[in-house]
Amino acid sequence: MEWDSIVAEYLAVCQIRRAMDLLFTDAQDEFRHQVRRWLEANVPSEARGTGPLRSLDTAEGFEAHRLWERTMYDARWSVVSWPAEFGGRGVGLMEWLIFEEEYYRAAAPTRVSQNGIFLLAPTLFEFGTPEQQARFLPSMASGEVIWCQGWSEPDAGSDLAGIRSRAERAGGSAGADASASGGWVLNGQKTWCSRGAFAHWLFGLFRTDPAAQKHRGLTYFLVPMDAPGVTVRPIAQLDGETGFAEVFFEDVSVPENQVLGTVDQGWSVAMATAGSERGLSLRSPARYTEAAGRLLSLYRQRAERDPVAARRVADAVARAVIDAEAYKLHTYWTATRVLDGGSVGPEASMNKVFWSETDLAIYEAALALLGEEAELFGADGHPSSWLDGFLFALAGPIYAGTNEIQRNVVAERVLGLPRV
Ligand SMILES: Cc1cc2nc3c(=O)[nH]c(=O)nc-3n(C[C@H](O)[C@H](O)[C@H](O)COP(=O)(O)OP(=O)(O)OC[C@H]3O[C@@H](n4cnc5c(N)ncnc54)[C@H](O)[C@@H]3O)c2cc1C
Repeated sequence: MEWDSIVAEYLAVCQIRRAMDLLFTDAQDEFRHQVRRWLEANVPSEARGTGPLRSLDTAEGFEAHRLWERTMYDARWSVVSWPAEFGGRGVGLMEWLIFEEEYYRAAAPTRVSQNGIFLLAPTLFEFGTPEQQARFLPSMASGEVIWCQGWSEPDAGSDLAGIRSRAERAGGSAGADASASGGWVLNGQKTWCSRGAFAHWLFGLFRTDPAAQKHRGLTYFLVPMDAPGVTVRPIAQLDGETGFAEVFFEDVSVPENQVLGTVDQGWSVAMATAGSERGLSLRSPARYTEAAGRLLSLYRQRAERDPVAARRVADAVARAVIDAEAYKLHTYWTATRVLDGGSVGPEASMNKVFWSETDLAIYEAALALLGEEAELFGADGHPSSWLDGFLFALAGPIYAGTNEIQRNVVAERVLGLPRV
């Protein structure tokens, strides 16, 4: 894209900004200062001798991240938007976005509890019984129990409704009509469970009515990873870390009170989780505006050293920074709609395409600025944070539903185009 049109687009974004009321209230500003003060005093840092934590995809790093979750929970910062009875502060969506901005500004550790607090928790609030909420939410907020997501199977990723893992009534009868007393027996295999190697519980989809149409006859289960019959096999990644796992279920007994939502209606429960994963909660804009800010600093450093080389990447840098800012504005707009009683719906798929492509654009621009230096490993034997970030950004268009699938959803359900 030409530099002139990028500048025009940036001015348009600024205009939108002026047209919207993006001023925070005094109470929100005060909330921001409180968050900032606490994070400045507590985020692990070299100055405090607590340094950056090891990757949460290692056993040691996983435990260190859990301890951090506990520290936040004890000060009631781990789940600010949840009601106080579950460990939160009962603040609104805007305050949560402010919290996220401060969290990334402080370079605080990646949330090891993210599958629980950002994906399962909103679903528990919507579909869980009061007993389930009281049982699962506090231990999730404190980091005592870390959850993983058991959806994908070796032959069902994009085609999630094609899963074959099954749940049968303990007495042998099937589906919602069967007696509710005896619980369920699970069999099958899940794969690509992030943090599955270390997690304590799994939320997963299982087929409960094999005779029903594909999207029907599925049920959403909550399963402890140490239940008899559950086998976890870590999957080594290219970098040698083993947070990923495949999970096997062999006659695993699950009581009735670990069904989330209605039996055979698990698809709509799962779509609520997917809405959180693609929409507002998993990837707040602060993640990208913070990385875009670092990209700008990198650009300035490089431009001082070699202006001609840096100029070649200027368009890509500008593009990435504008996109991060646009995503932030879009999110505030969505949050305003939600606060006015609206919902996110299939637009979450647009979000997902946008955040994953913006992330990749930021890291690609950084690598282009760094040139061959990008590939140097640090004295600690680890790749630079730009290379590490780039490798993870490559996965963005795949996890949470591939971008091809999200584009299909946008075409059919947002734009109303015919199915091909
Ligand atoms: C970093 C990472 C973390 C993950 N974490 C988890 C997790 O915690 N839990 C979990 O359950 N899963 C997880 N996954 C798995 C992820 O959800 C799947 O990889 C994803 O849904 C794609 O499924 P698949 O790999 O089977 O690819 P496939 O479905 O086999 O797709 C292969 C290719 O075909 C394309 N394609 C397929 N169908 C269509 C179509 N109808 N139209 C157009 N293109 C199509 C896809 O876009 C893709 O490019 C994770 C994946 C990654 C990369």
